[in-house]
Amino acid sequence: MNAPNASGWKPELGPSGTASPVTSSGDRGLQLEEPLIFELGTGANFGVDLDAPEAAPLASLGRFLRKDKAALPGLTEPEAVRHYTRLSRQNYAIDLGPFPLGSCTMKHNPRLNEKMARLPGFADVHPLQPVQSVQGALGVINQLAFWLIELTGMHGVAMTPKAGAHGELCGLLCIKAAILAKGEDRPVILVPESAHGTNPATAAFAGFRVENIPATPAGRVDLAALKARLGPDVAGVMITNPNTCGLFEPEMKDISDAVHAAGGYVYCDGANFNAIVGKVRPGDLGVDAMHINLHKTFSTPHGGGGPGSGPVVLSEALSPFGPLPFTARQADGTIRLIEEEDAPVEHPQGFGRMTAFHGQMGMFTRALTYILSHGADGLRQVAEDAVLNANYVLRSLEDVLDAPFAASGPCMHEALFSDDNLPDGFSTLDVAKGLIDEGFHPMTVYFPLVVHGAMLVEPTETESKQGLDRLIGSLRAVAERALAGDESLKSAPHYAPRRRLDETQAARKPVLTWQGHVQQPAPPIPSEIGGS
Ligand SMILES: *Cc1c(COP(=O)(O)O)cnc(C)c1O
Repeated sequence: MNAPNASGWKPELGPSGTASPVTSSGDRGLQLEEPLIFELGTGANFGVDLDAPEAAPLASLGRFLRKDKAALPGLTEPEAVRHYTRLSRQNYAIDLGPFPLGSCTMKHNPRLNEKMARLPGFADVHPLQPVQSVQGALGVINQLAFWLIELTGMHGVAMTPKAGAHGELCGLLCIKAAILAKGEDRPVILVPESAHGTNPATAAFAGFRVENIPATPAGRVDLAALKARLGPDVAGVMITNPNTCGLFEPEMKDISDAVHAAGGYVYCDGANFNAIVGKVRPGDLGVDAMHINLHKTFSTPHGGGGPGSGPVVLSEALSPFGPLPFTARQADGTIRLIEEEDAPVEHPQGFGRMTAFHGQMGMFTRALTYILSHGADGLRQVAEDAVLNANYVLRSLEDVLDAPFAASGPCMHEALFSDDNLPDGFSTLDVAKGLIDEGFHPMTVYFPLVVHGAMLVEPTETESKQGLDRLIGSLRAVAERALAGDESLKSAPHYAPRRRLDETQAARKPVLTWQGHVQQPAPPIPSEIGGS
């Protein structure tokens, strides 16, 4: 059976039409195998030549000396460099191609950002340097704070949280401090069913009890159900807007008004700010606290590429409780960074600190570079292009993949599909694995939980039409293989460094050794797709 299937998809065979030969190294051309570093090193080598230790000083260390040899792999420098380079070639990266992971906003990281972050005045600052010697770095933080306040229409910002989830914790601790200051006891935080897992986890971690708010069939927060639940025990709500179904919450202002009328606060998960930056100011929607993932909206690298950064903007009501160091709008309209020394007078109600120092300096520099190189009009275009790209994906694929909310109008910056229309036995997982064979990182799968078999595709604004067409073509081909009942899809990926893993076992019983580097034969092409 060498005939192409319904989609025309056909594995590439060797010149003779037979499966590839087995190699003795396990490598297959440029597809390189690599053992674990501990299995690679003999322990005999070392990257540098040091003088033999002098006995006398060593003896004086006495009981501090280690008894056994450290279990280090012991590689020469070229061995170490090759190890990590070989591993990196088994990986996928935003610099290789589209990375359509919904909710993650995997956009291009402009090289200008990197250049600025590497300027020695920023890259080499130490948090304990005298303050007179870091005025430039503080200026960057202040200028970025100004932009974040302006873009969100809020009153103040805590720049220190180190990721979105850390920002959520910061925002909820502000809410907690505000409630305590009023002498109230409000133990409940309401979270929509479609929320990112970090929302309920953060609320629980901050000591609140989490209750779910249902969604409407159109994928939005059920305002009536929310209003019915509000009361004197509710501290606030955590709403993601645009939400995780890729939809704007048009009733956000009504939600905020209702929550405020009941004495609560509105936390907005701002991870999807990329869809509305420069278009909508969350402050105008009644939001009291929102984290901004600099690593999503403002293009600082993430996902193995760098640390996150999650500044939290606060309303006038919550600003007094923000952690130090805290930046807020002053009476004369300027914004100012308040530090520990001035806090007793200028910021007496702050709840404490989120970090020891000022936060992720390298990410601040990158994000400010991104903002300044786009300008206000460029940022608006970021949102417009991100939304346009997602709608292009949605409308290009809704005939081959179930699109549960396609009928409710345009989406925001993410297109949501499900496996509802696929034949029995085919699922979202098969589509994701098939996309790996097509040379793409898969989209987000099985999130949000409110949609069974969800596939959340976020192309971002940085993909060109040609790039989108390639991604759409591949997704369409994989969906068509599933629709045609192509059994080979169920064992995809066939062309990745590893075949389909047992993900449950891999999480529960990880085998952290690598069996047999040299003699391991390359995986044969399975007969269903490689047979003749
Ligand atoms: C990414 C994300 C978060 C968490 O942000 P981190 O920076 O990964 O901690 C929270 N909510 C949503 C909707 C997200 O997409």
